[in-house]
Amino acid sequence: MALLASYSDPADAALALDALKRGGVPHESHQVEEDGLEFIQIQVSDEEFDRACEVIEQHDTELMESRQEEHRRRSGCPTCGAPELSHRDDIDCSGSITGISSVMECKKCGRLFPR
Ligand SMILES: [Zn+2]
Repeated sequence: MALLASYSDPADAALALDALKRGGVPHESHQVEEDGLEFIQIQVSDEEFDRACEVIEQHDTELMESRQEEHRRRSGCPTCGAPELSHRDDIDCSGSITGISSVMECKKCGRLFPR
């Protein structure tokens, strides 16, 4: 067996294990303790190692992209995705019944949207 990856976050490990399962790569996972920290190690057979690496690399890329996308959606302009936003203090939402607490303006495309 060869050590493919080790994860300190069980959620990350679960996602990686799921990716391997979807990729049809036989694997084993063990919980290990090192210097008081718990890790989840994923092992694959030597023959499967290269293929498993590809699956994990692909998985990491997808994960990073989806996290960036999520971050962009949460923090940037909903229209163009620009992160430069300004807070429109001049628009008072305190009496709003819609639950909008403030209005943001995109510095790039000028879109106003609630936050
Ligand atoms: Zn914009």
